[in-house]
Amino acid sequence: MLVRIAGAGVCATDLHAIDGEMEPAGVSPPIVLGHENAGWVEATGDLVATVSPGDAVVLYPPYSCGLCVPCRRGHDVHCERHRFTGLTVDGGFADFVLVSERSVVKLPDGTDPTELAPHADAGITAYHAVKKVAHLARPGSTSVVIGVGGVGHIALQLLRELGSGAVVAVETDERRQRLARELGADETIGGGDVADAVREHTNGRGADLVLDFVGSDQTHADGMAMLGRLGTYSMVGFGGTLSVPSAAMVGAEQAAVANLVGSWIDLWEVLQLHARGTLTLKSETHPLEDVNDVLSMLREGAITGRAVLVPGGRERT
Ligand SMILES: [Zn+2]
Ligand SMILES: [Zn+2]
Repeated sequence: MLVRIAGAGVCATDLHAIDGEMEPAGVSPPIVLGHENAGWVEATGDLVATVSPGDAVVLYPPYSCGLCVPCRRGHDVHCERHRFTGLTVDGGFADFVLVSERSVVKLPDGTDPTELAPHADAGITAYHAVKKVAHLARPGSTSVVIGVGGVGHIALQLLRELGSGAVVAVETDERRQRLARELGADETIGGGDVADAVREHTNGRGADLVLDFVGSDQTHADGMAMLGRLGTYSMVGFGGTLSVPSAAMVGAEQAAVANLVGSWIDLWEVLQLHARGTLTLKSETHPLEDVNDVLSMLREGAITGRAVLVPGGRERT
């Protein structure tokens, strides 16, 4: 089906793609980027049965065939015929995007899809990562969110929503620290030795759960250093190298896990939470023509929350 774009979120992964770091994942620019898309169905093929022109939709970015074993286990991202809107096929930094019917999550009538676009990647990724470890955020536990950006600010709220322990935000930027407090972080930690600060905050025990939305050499090292016994270090941001002595991990029975986007049902579920009014999406809109400026702003850390590109002068703030 052809979808008219209402909004397309800009993601750090776009920068990785532009920088050529995603060649191993089959991402070879030039390509139309934009994997965080929402809009309205413009036209459908004859066999499309579940949506009609005019319907508001959020687009699940991975293609999944529905036939292979990973698909049937619900692991759409690991489909054997994997493709990805905005990374391996043309995406939503455009007026229109072409997708398969399996990509669509239909929104209730009257919903404005523009403001929901960030859920297509930031929301689903945060939800997938938190859902996987929410059972560890039990009463009395401490979870740490490293990086309160586009994905991290949603994860922070989900830890509160799906878990019941304390949530600490590690964030160097002052505006994002403020955002973390607004969204319910029990404590924010800025610069300095952040691992020490977390240990101090937990009476020396360390964190039960660390979710890293940055993924640099530094945050990998910090994340492991602040982790307590039986703790889990969960990576969402990527790019650095995780290096840790196995004796330390075995001695403390720690786990390191990684997360890649999420399943279609993860997207559907996070949209249900949003509809209940329990999630705040911090976003700002920019005209699509300003795409290169917005990418530069993201690279410089000048965006708090998520930037959404809106084509054809439809932008609102
Ligand atoms: Zn992304
Ligand atoms: Zn498949």
